[in-house]
Amino acid sequence: MKSEQMKIPQATAKRLPLYYRFLENLHSSGKQRVSSTELSEAVKVDSATIRRDFSYFGALGKKGYGYNVNYLLSFFRETLDQDELTKVMLVGVGNLGTAFLHYNFFKNNNTQIEMAFDVDEDKVGTNVGGVEIHDLNQFEALHTENITVAILTVPAPVAQKIADRLVAAGVKGILNFTPARLTVPDSVRVHHIDLAVELQALVYFLKHYPLDSPQ
Ligand code: ATP
Repeated sequence: MKSEQMKIPQATAKRLPLYYRFLENLHSSGKQRVSSTELSEAVKVDSATIRRDFSYFGALGKKGYGYNVNYLLSFFRETLDQDELTKVMLVGVGNLGTAFLHYNFFKNNNTQIEMAFDVDEDKVGTNVGGVEIHDLNQFEALHTENITVAILTVPAPVAQKIADRLVAAGVKGILNFTPARLTVPDSVRVHHIDLAVELQALVYFLKHYPLDSPQ
């Protein structure tokens, strides 16, 4: 995100990609305006929060009119740097890594996995989802400084060591899918997604905090 927009609270910033995706869908279906209630139902964020989020960037919806889809979209595109392609690398081409290489991130936001690494010699040199798999031993030689974001899908015991190498090579953001908690310098951002824990949490909540079902 651009530095002059850093005043936006982090919680708001996190919701921007969600809004952006929905607005893009609206735009491609030819819709010109949207109300905060409509948005709220679609993205499952309450409308008061949406109005507050939007007020941070000067989008003040008009009563009875709602928000202008084109205005919002161009704002989001600029704020999220959607005009610029963000190149990403992936380390660990196992089941999860393979799925990500096949997944078209580009369709919904302007990020693309450009290179992937593994140590398995059966995988190195192959191409998965249009991305070439390189030997991790060649990482320092091959990594270019225009790739500052990495997805980590390696076994947990090797995650920290690999993260250290990524950081030393200039990586600034790691999307960590391993259960390992990574230690990185303050200048590096790690987002941790443990799918097993998320699933377990959902099951727990269903059991212990059942939602009211409609009569
Ligand atoms: P698979 O069924 O292909 O083994 P998996 O997701 O169950 O997939 P994991 O053991 O989690 O397997 O390993 C994920 C990927 O990480 C594998 O492709 C493995 O070769 C790779 N890997 C293991 N150790 C390293 C390492 N030190 N550096 C980079 N990649 C590694």
